[in-house]
Amino acid sequence: MRVRRVENLVVCPNCKGKLIKNGKQLICNNCKDSFMIEDEKILFTHQKGKFKKKGFFYSFKEKIKVNKLLFAITNIIFSPIFPNISYKKYLLPKGNTILDIGSGPYKLREDIINIDMKNYPGVNIICDAKRLPFNENSVDQIFNFSLLEHTEDPQKIIDEMYRVLKPSGTLYTLIPFLQPYHPTPCDYWRFSKEGVIKLHSDFEKIKCGVYAGPISTLLWIMQEFLAMTLSLGIPFLKDFWLLVITFLTFPVKILDPIFRLLPSSHILASAFYFYGKKTKGN
Ligand SMILES: [Zn+2]
Repeated sequence: MRVRRVENLVVCPNCKGKLIKNGKQLICNNCKDSFMIEDEKILFTHQKGKFKKKGFFYSFKEKIKVNKLLFAITNIIFSPIFPNISYKKYLLPKGNTILDIGSGPYKLREDIINIDMKNYPGVNIICDAKRLPFNENSVDQIFNFSLLEHTEDPQKIIDEMYRVLKPSGTLYTLIPFLQPYHPTPCDYWRFSKEGVIKLHSDFEKIKCGVYAGPISTLLWIMQEFLAMTLSLGIPFLKDFWLLVITFLTFPVKILDPIFRLLPSSHILASAFYFYGKKTKGN
């Protein structure tokens, strides 16, 4: 994904004015706000170093996220939920404008535009998800994985994604239900299946179901509970035990796809997915 292709798609996040390139900057033709282009990324936020690292485990995770191979391996071992890749069947072919919002450094596919608040490698646009630098009805598909629980107002972000999607554009959301508190850097919300559907009520539902099931729920809670108990109240020890216990118990996750198929698995689901379509223009 070359920065030039992204430059041609974006507009001013404040006023949706046309952006004019001037050296290493994009300047809004209307409100005159300017945005930097750095290392093939467009920076639409003016805040730097906003996130503070919290503890050993948090900074360890942040370090791993920037190495692709390490990230893939550690995701299988340390991801507290079963790494379900069923979303891949919904991916539109190349040539469509596809966004991954809250992407982190992971690329679903080379042509997909990665958007995040943080300046990870592989991110194309750094911006606030509440104010996407895209015109309404301009995007074919949006993915957001485990993003909404970390945002203050998930409905606002869903509405913003709805705005930029073309009529008949599609949205894939992954959102937690029964998961321990996991701030990156904050953690605000959990949603039942009804809650997930309500959040997406402007969309025509194509499919909504269990992404990670009861095994993922019980395993993660057990890992956190054991780490908390063995730490004797010392924060560093809690991080250490969580790492050890997660490493020792991760193969249990293999059972998740079986339990996910139970008709009542939504009662103890760790996370839900929603796949829906924008059916009208706005
Ligand atoms: Zn502007």
